[in-house]
Amino acid sequence: MTIPFFDGHNDTLLKLIEVQGGAPERKFIDGYPAAHIDLPRAKTAGMVGGFFAMFPPPIKQSLSDVAAAPAKTEGKLPPQLAWADAQASTTAMAALLLRLERQGALTICRDADAVRAAIAAERLAAIFHIEGAEAIDTELQSLELLYAAGLRSVGITWSRQNAFGTGVPFVHNADPDIGDGLTEAGKRLVRACDEMGVMIDLSHLNAKGFRDVAALSSKPLVATHSNVHAICPHARNLVDWQLAAIRESGGVVGLNYATGFLRPDGKMVPDTGIDLMVRHVAALVEALGEDGVALGSDFDGAMMPAEIRNVTGVPKLLQALLDHGFGEDLVRKIALDNWLGLLERTL
Ligand code: ZN
Repeated sequence: MTIPFFDGHNDTLLKLIEVQGGAPERKFIDGYPAAHIDLPRAKTAGMVGGFFAMFPPPIKQSLSDVAAAPAKTEGKLPPQLAWADAQASTTAMAALLLRLERQGALTICRDADAVRAAIAAERLAAIFHIEGAEAIDTELQSLELLYAAGLRSVGITWSRQNAFGTGVPFVHNADPDIGDGLTEAGKRLVRACDEMGVMIDLSHLNAKGFRDVAALSSKPLVATHSNVHAICPHARNLVDWQLAAIRESGGVVGLNYATGFLRPDGKMVPDTGIDLMVRHVAALVEALGEDGVALGSDFDGAMMPAEIRNVTGVPKLLQALLDHGFGEDLVRKIALDNWLGLLERTL
C-alpha cells in the first residue's frame, strides 16, 4: 500500500540551481541522485506534491557551507542579505520552477482545488514558497510580481534578520524568544499576504515575530517545518505556547526530518531513529489535534536520518506511524489531507 503524501518543505530548487553542467530541470525530470528529491523517486515514493522553497543563500557560500552554518555561527545569526542579491537568487529559483512546469514535471498550484486537480492528473503539485522575504522590497512592489508568478506561501525570515523581522539562530538548548518582533514593513507584509490569500510560514521566525503574526493575521497559523521544543530544545522548534496558538487558530505544523531538530541532544548525525520522528508526531498530535499535524521534510536542506535518506524513505515513516498504532485515517491526514485542508482555509 502506497500512501500519497504532500511535503511541507524542500530546498530542492536551491540544490538544482547549483548543478554544474547540464540543465537542472532535466536532472530533476530524469533523476538526480545527488538530491533528496527528483521526479522519478517522488513518483515511486508516493509524493504527490509539496511546498518548493526559494531560499536565497548567503553570498559566496556553497550549499555545504550553508548546511555547516550552525557549527560556524555558534548561535549567532548569519549576516543579512542585500535585496539585489536575494532578488537574483530568488528569481533564478522561480525561473527554474516555471521551466519545470512548462516541461511537464509539475504544476504550480494557486489554491487547494488546483492541488487536487494536479494530484488527480498524476502531476506533482507545487506550492511556490519563499523562505525568507529578502527578495521583496519594503514597498511590497515585487510581492505583486511574485504573486502573479504563483507565489502562495511566504516565510517572513530564514534564520537571520531582514527588513521585515528576525529569525532564530541555529542554537540548541535555547528558546525562540530572541530578538525583536516584526518591523513596520513586516506588519505591512503580513496584512498584504492575508488580503491576497498568501500563506505565512512561521518556521524560522522568532517568538516576538510569531506573536505579531498571530495578532495581525486572520488566517490559521502555520509552521511548515518545525518540531517539538519539549523533546528537542532547539530555538528552531516550537514551545508549548506556540503550539497552543497554532491549535487555537486551526493551523498546521509539518514534521521536520532534520536530525538536529529531532534529537534531544540536537546533534546533526545520521544515526537518528525513525522512532524519534514518531515521538515528535505523537507529541504534535497531542498538542494540535488530528487535523493539525503534517509533514515538512526539509529535504535537500538538512541532514536526514540514515533510515530515511531521501524521498524514498518517507513510506518507512508512514509505516512506522501505522505500526505505532495511529489508524490509517490519521496517517492519511498527516500525509496529505491536513495540508489540503490548511490550503483550503488559507489561499
Ligand atoms: Zn528552513
